[in-house]
Amino acid sequence: MSTQKPALAKEELLEKDRKYVWHHMSPHNDNPLIIVSGDGCWITDADGNRYFDGMSGLWCVNVGHGRERIAKAAYEQMKTIAYSPMSQSHVPAIQLAEKINSWLEGDYRIFFSNSGSDANEVAFKIARQYYHQKGEPARHKFIARHRAYHGSSFGALSATGQAQRKLKYEPLGAGFQHVPPPYCYRCPFGQSYGSCGLECADAVEAAINWEGADSVAGIILEPAITGGGMIVPPAEYLPKVREICDKYGVLLILDEVICGFGRSGEKFGHHNYSVEPDIVTMAKGLTSAYSPLSATAVRSSLYESFKGKDGASHFRHVNTFGGNQVSCAVAIANLEIMEEEQLVERSARIGKELDRLLEPLKTHPNIGDIRLFGSACGIELVVDQQSKTPADADLVLRVISGCKSRGLLVGKNGDTVPGFNNIITLCPPLITTDDELAFIAGAITEALESISS
Ligand code: PMP
Repeated sequence: MSTQKPALAKEELLEKDRKYVWHHMSPHNDNPLIIVSGDGCWITDADGNRYFDGMSGLWCVNVGHGRERIAKAAYEQMKTIAYSPMSQSHVPAIQLAEKINSWLEGDYRIFFSNSGSDANEVAFKIARQYYHQKGEPARHKFIARHRAYHGSSFGALSATGQAQRKLKYEPLGAGFQHVPPPYCYRCPFGQSYGSCGLECADAVEAAINWEGADSVAGIILEPAITGGGMIVPPAEYLPKVREICDKYGVLLILDEVICGFGRSGEKFGHHNYSVEPDIVTMAKGLTSAYSPLSATAVRSSLYESFKGKDGASHFRHVNTFGGNQVSCAVAIANLEIMEEEQLVERSARIGKELDRLLEPLKTHPNIGDIRLFGSACGIELVVDQQSKTPADADLVLRVISGCKSRGLLVGKNGDTVPGFNNIITLCPPLITTDDELAFIAGAITEALESISS
């Protein structure tokens, strides 16, 4: 770990931050945490306070902070060559594309970009062009789900199912329709899992029919909705959606930006459901965020129609930094660490241990539901368990700041429908020890106790 002191004093840093920096996502904040270093699961701010990074940054630092091996891989690659465009090829991209295939356990062509949003844009464009080349140019629409988040650029935001993220930027891209998510705790169809007919999956089929099956190119979904509130589907949901896609010739695009690379307790989220997607998008855990990189993996059989040598069928999409040599070298080192330290298996164990440690909280009046997908966790806060009325923003913020004052940083679901910002999220690094899990559970328990007293 580097324990470098910041070059400027805290007050001076804050003054310059207030003057020059535009923060992401959060409302204007005159007093942000200024993070100066990280070591394993812990990060340190400019005052020397240490926090457990309970969200792995933004669901991404899977191997933890301060990995020298990754820093060395970046350094070596920078010395060798830092950049060449992906209209050519290079060694780290070739090696990484092969490695991604082995993680996917399938036969995919890999298109590299920079961010999760980029990877989804690429998926939409490839799907539309694929159908053009197949002689079905009318297929241009995509089905997505309410509460889903797929990114901030226009296409990815159009697929996003959270009104508050979109309202001030409309009109967005045309051709995106949303269906209700498989949200068993508040079933949009008034059913209970076990006695339901999987109406959430039927809604996908109904949307395809109402839109006109011949006009639909794909459905995009996360194996479990993460940022939109940790909504984990019943086991039968994804296989049923796959069947529907096959029935109507619609591509199944899985956004594995968060669920991929071990977070779900399997290599990819869809491996939990034995489903084979047509397109998989990935980012975050690919490099554990040590360097920006994303990828769109496209089933090789789909790639066939892009292979013509006349130029008419090539994919007209370029991304200057996409597939940067350093980022690819970083990704390879990151995935080697994941393999050697068996962090996919560790993720599954973290999930089980968290479930056990959080079990006593299930009787707390403000806990409505606790949901886990591998080691990603959502704790849904309510006013009381009977009414299930979502907890208000004040209560949620009190729990979050109660955790922070105990040295634990947690997240919350992205802005959805007003009044439904009531889900605390946890996504610890995959190297979290059992002692650290006990610390997490202890901090959350105490934070909750302090709001009830
Ligand atoms: N898809 C999902 C599921 C995400 O969670 C995110 C980012 N949180 C994105 C796409 C967009 O990724 P990025 O911020 O790298 O563009």
